[in-house]
Amino acid sequence: MTKPVHVIGGGLAGSEAAWQIASAGVPVVLHEMRPVRPTDAHHTDLFAELVCSNSFRSDDWRYNAVGLLHAEMRRCDSLIMACGDAHQVPAGGALAVDRDGFAQAVTDRLSNHPLVTIQREEVAGLPPVDWDSVIVATGPLTSPALADAVLALTGEDSLSFFDAIAPIVHLESIDMDIAWRQSRYDKEGPGGDAAAYINCPMDRDQYEAFIDALLAGPKAEFKDWENVPYFDGCLPIEVMAERGRETLRHGPMKPVGLTNPRNPTVKAHAIVQLRQDNALGTLWNMVGFQTKLKHGAQTDVFRMIPGLQNAQFARLGGLHRNTFLNSPRLLDGRLRLKADPRLRFAGQVTGVEGYVESAAMGLVTGRLAAAERLGRPLDAPPPTTALGALVGHITGGHLDGPGARFQPMNINYGLLPPMETPRKTADGAKIPMKERGRAKKALMSERALADLEAWAAAPQPIAAE
Ligand SMILES: Cc1cc2nc3c(=O)[nH]c(=O)nc-3n(C[C@H](O)[C@H](O)[C@H](O)COP(=O)(O)OP(=O)(O)OC[C@H]3O[C@@H](n4cnc5c(N)ncnc54)[C@H](O)[C@@H]3O)c2cc1C
Repeated sequence: MTKPVHVIGGGLAGSEAAWQIASAGVPVVLHEMRPVRPTDAHHTDLFAELVCSNSFRSDDWRYNAVGLLHAEMRRCDSLIMACGDAHQVPAGGALAVDRDGFAQAVTDRLSNHPLVTIQREEVAGLPPVDWDSVIVATGPLTSPALADAVLALTGEDSLSFFDAIAPIVHLESIDMDIAWRQSRYDKEGPGGDAAAYINCPMDRDQYEAFIDALLAGPKAEFKDWENVPYFDGCLPIEVMAERGRETLRHGPMKPVGLTNPRNPTVKAHAIVQLRQDNALGTLWNMVGFQTKLKHGAQTDVFRMIPGLQNAQFARLGGLHRNTFLNSPRLLDGRLRLKADPRLRFAGQVTGVEGYVESAAMGLVTGRLAAAERLGRPLDAPPPTTALGALVGHITGGHLDGPGARFQPMNINYGLLPPMETPRKTADGAKIPMKERGRAKKALMSERALADLEAWAAAPQPIAAE
């Protein structure tokens, strides 16, 4: 009898991982602590409970990165997608689900699978040594006993308990006729680059209007149990503005050491800086701009910044309770803990964000663990796929170095290797300028699905041998 793979956590990621392992013909033990030990966000003892919204977001595979992720997961026989499709409710172009029907279906499919054993218990420390293949998928509310054990194994700065997220902007949406590249005092970074930042200048009137909008904008409230502390280094910008109208000009918006090449004799009153956020150079984060402004207000307020008037946001800012690993440092390319490779991590705890992304990482780790057990080790999906791009983000795509902090991310096209923006269709017709961005997304989505094929076909079930 093949030894089982152990999956800890029966949420979005753990349920998908267990399904993938069992589908490959490998036995799996799924350990879920609910209802023995509840969390602050779950209300049922069902697997894959959706703790907040009931939406899996856009289902448009051609023009939307999360829709592409749906398509890739369907191609890989995803349990989460199958149950989502079976229990969908009307939501326009989005995939929204009847949350109870969905979670019940996931629970039933796993409970009825002959290769899945379910144990309702908290794994309150590192797994016993005789569990030689384990997937930890315990989510943003990982129980403290397990989080402490991981921390003890991996070191002090290995786990974060809060997101303090600054918005991230797609480079191609920044107006470089207004913004310019320069590092403060032209200081060279370790790579010898003295123009590492993108700078957006403001005059006094623009700054004052921006502060007014920031103070007036609606803010999201913390949940009672979140009890998020403000660390000095990551105060939300609206809290800084509340402390005084000039505070931001002396903090993240200070205009010193920078000269606008288009207006070199006039000092900007304030400057917003963006720093490269991924190795591909397609995504840039707004330095020091973590915020609790509601998402709708963020787009309006941040588009007041000169140079960002047409900004497309890959991610908006936030501050939440969230347990996640410093994955780029701790995990290898197959999502194994370098310090103890029998442990894989999956889901939100790896630093992806969202139901679908969490399930996607469950899918990948489940397949990798099953393939390893079958003696046919598998690499992560190609980086040109949405699945592979997420693995890339958490294991290496994010830039390291002073000031850069790994932060969770939703799937977006900026995580995939870029392609040339097409000017003509396959039959030679000119593509109008305003449709070229969409045409590029379609090309990237088509490439992703084609490149996924070989990976999706492995590992073969034992029975097929
Ligand atoms: C309050 C809140 C609201 C959110 N809202 C949304 C949203 O609207 N849309 C969205 O896309 N994403 C949302 N997210 C983010 C994220 O998508 C979800 O948290 C998602 O459920 C993550 O999937 P997961 O499988 O990683 O973790 P989970 O789905 O949380 O699953 C983890 C499981 O592990 C179990 N567990 C924890 N510790 C142990 C242990 N030691 N032993 C055994 N079992 C354990 C838990 O009981 C849980 O069932 C939200 C997150 C939070 C915290």
